[in-house]
Amino acid sequence: MEALKQKIREDGIVLSDQVLKVDAFLNHQIDPQLMQQIGDEFAARFAEAGISKIVTIEASGIAPAIMTGLKLGVPVIFARKHQSLTLTEHLLSASVYSFTKQVESTVAISPRHLSRDDRVLIIDDFLANGKAAQALISIIDQAGAQVAGIGIVIEKSFQSGRQELDAQGYRVESLARVKSLAGGQVSFLD
Ligand code: 5GP
Repeated sequence: MEALKQKIREDGIVLSDQVLKVDAFLNHQIDPQLMQQIGDEFAARFAEAGISKIVTIEASGIAPAIMTGLKLGVPVIFARKHQSLTLTEHLLSASVYSFTKQVESTVAISPRHLSRDDRVLIIDDFLANGKAAQALISIIDQAGAQVAGIGIVIEKSFQSGRQELDAQGYRVESLARVKSLAGGQVSFLD
């Protein structure tokens, strides 16, 4: 998606060979127009996939997920990282190792919002080693629902997540595929 790649070139900050900071438009300050274009793009790519729900992880997945849900006309569920006092019932949960925070945490979704009839589109901001996506897949499996696809805003193709999800047979659509961050430069795959 050219507008996204342009934004990454202009406002992305390469923190290391492994980490790209995009807090000017995705992870802290959010560019609503770009999010809308991202939502439109995911919705177009998954238009024929029979999606009934979108699942993401708080916080940074919510903006692209909600714009996609708006376009597809389906609800958006975000897995919560912290147990809320209002979430008192049994939860579907999985543990996830955070690439950026380097800590293990638990993410959870109430089973009231996912059923075995659902065809779920997973949306997330980044794909690195795929731990967040695998945790969401596990939760969706626990609900007996089907993973219909995975939409990623920025894929770091030099890390293992994409290859592993491909090998498991999931359909992954990434809007920007970063080939390398070496030397402080962002280069894209296609
Ligand atoms: P994974 O679970 O695929 O290893 O990592 C994906 C998660 O880690 C995303 O949800 C995202 O929050 C975070 N993440 C991974 N790599 C980066 C990065 O280069 N920059 C930022 N801002 N977040 C990242």
